[in-house]
Amino acid sequence: MMMKTYNFCTWHVMTLILVCGMALPNTVAEDLQRYTYQEIAMSISVRIVVCAESESKAQLAAESAFRRVHELDAIMTDYDSDSELMQLCRQGGKTSEPVVVSNDLYRVLQKSKQFSTDSQGAFDITVGPIVRLWRRARRLHEFPEKRLLDDALVLVGNDLWEIDAETQSVTIKKDKVSFDLGAIAKGYIIDQAIAVLKRHGIAAALVDAGGDIRVYGIPGDNNANGWLIGVSAHDKEVGRVVSDGIAMASSGDLSRYVMLDGVRYSHIVDPKTGTGLTTQTAVTVFAPDATTADALATALSVLPPEEGLKLLTKYEGTAAMICRQSPQNTHVTQNKAEVWYSEKWGPLVTAVELSE
Ligand code: ADP
Ligand code: MG
Repeated sequence: MMMKTYNFCTWHVMTLILVCGMALPNTVAEDLQRYTYQEIAMSISVRIVVCAESESKAQLAAESAFRRVHELDAIMTDYDSDSELMQLCRQGGKTSEPVVVSNDLYRVLQKSKQFSTDSQGAFDITVGPIVRLWRRARRLHEFPEKRLLDDALVLVGNDLWEIDAETQSVTIKKDKVSFDLGAIAKGYIIDQAIAVLKRHGIAAALVDAGGDIRVYGIPGDNNANGWLIGVSAHDKEVGRVVSDGIAMASSGDLSRYVMLDGVRYSHIVDPKTGTGLTTQTAVTVFAPDATTADALATALSVLPPEEGLKLLTKYEGTAAMICRQSPQNTHVTQNKAEVWYSEKWGPLVTAVELSE
């Protein structure tokens, strides 16, 4: 593990984004053309870039992928009380009986359970009731009531629900337990969109959902080895990856947080305390699939960096960068940020030097 310390001015504008991989010429290898499509789903802009022999082939594939994206969004959203996810929580919680779920919901819940177990509860989809209180806090600019947070915390825990592979069912052991797939659904949806594009025989494609991305194939351009993906921190490019098959996800509190009594509370919560993170963490994870990248980026935001990097070693082909700012420094303009890199980060990401 490597750790570096940088002086960052105005840390709060720290950002981790994809800087390239798309704004490149339209003509690609082997007479493939590049076509870009964009739609709103999951309340964010989803972009699909398809490299295909003809526009009709590209369009058919992209339309099909977007249909899948919308279908999955409808199943997994917690903003719609009629989604399969919310129906499961209501029905399952009331009866404590097993509820049979769809293939997709089953797969996401099964993965969620695994990530929760592996991260020792840092990643936990039962944060639903807590997340809702912090969403309200963001709207009203006031602390969630302690009494309400205490009540909600009782509903958080990986042991409050079970999943059964044989019957493809989920048992929720307590009424009012509420799942929030905000930290994993986007990744799963990206993976499923990629699967659709592959089924359509698309040679190379990129799916980008609000900065979480997955690519495959050789898009051509000047690079014969794959897509060029840029990573930036604090508005500066810090690294580049060229790959013909990889996913990248970022987690952080860049835009979704609330400032209360001079402290920033993130939309990512610590399931153990029920509090929005105050550590101002920004994490980027590379993984073979977007589900893993998405879930791990959230888990690594919650865990102490050393533990996060240890967790990462359980997942093959992953690499991470964790940037942290301690809460007591939030008022200082010349802030100190610490950056941790997993062992695989160096070999994967070509560094672009940060100025001190
Ligand atoms: P983003 O949505 O910015 O990509 P994440 O992938 O980290 O960020 O997902 C954050 C969302 O996940 C939150 O808005 C919330 O809905 C949910 N969440 C918050 N804390 C946790 C947690 N500890 N474990 C699982 N999900 C969480
Ligand atoms: Mg996530």
